[in-house]
Amino acid sequence: MKITILGFLGGYPYNGQATSCYLIQSKGYNLLLDCGSGALLNLEKHLDPLDLDAVLLSHYHNDHIADIGVLQYYWQLNNSRIDGKVLPIYGHKQDKKHFDDLTWDKATIGQAYEPSKKLLLGPFEISFLKTKHPVTAYAVKIEDTSDKKIFAFTADTDYIPELTAFVRGADVLMTDTNYSAGKKEPKWHMTSTESGKLAKDAAVKKLILTHLPQKEDLNLLLEEAKEAATKSIEVDIAETGKIITC
Ligand SMILES: [Zn+2]
Ligand SMILES: [Zn+2]
Repeated sequence: MKITILGFLGGYPYNGQATSCYLIQSKGYNLLLDCGSGALLNLEKHLDPLDLDAVLLSHYHNDHIADIGVLQYYWQLNNSRIDGKVLPIYGHKQDKKHFDDLTWDKATIGQAYEPSKKLLLGPFEISFLKTKHPVTAYAVKIEDTSDKKIFAFTADTDYIPELTAFVRGADVLMTDTNYSAGKKEPKWHMTSTESGKLAKDAAVKKLILTHLPQKEDLNLLLEEAKEAATKSIEVDIAETGKIITC
């Protein structure tokens, strides 16, 4: 499995960097996970957007879906190149307005995932865990059925103990780390320390901090997360264009 970071900021794009978006590839299958602001420009550097097989959305906050509209135009305006094929966009159905927006003529079709069931997309078997966030959001665990490697993504969430069992043993865990250790309640994202603790408790192999803040010291976040994780876990910070293989 190859994971390419196309956007890693929370909230809004800043200083040339996009918000939440990741390209997940295996066995020739191309899955886009979230599609935040600035995502399409970065995707074009790695893949013709018409070569996407599916898009999967964790939730409908704008920093995760802002570029869905322009991705739909891309498919619609280039549709003659692909014989009328449409791109499936998987999202939850607990928000009818946003779910309905996933369907666009000659471009995309909204597909509902059922969070209690596994979703099979190409080589990927995907499971879901509802997170703690102001709107309905799902963490996802993506297992590559060809080699059993696991990539887990917390999506947006405050720390909840249920995450530990859900991400246990992941080869790569990517966590919403929007805050440094000192952040007090109320909060809708995890701190660096909580990300490190989750990685340690779940015995993952590698931790990547993402959904990062625009104006905090990212080295501080990284050091705090490293301190909370064990030394055997590799801890890194998301960057545009960074590729992780597992
Ligand atoms: Zn977000
Ligand atoms: Zn959110």
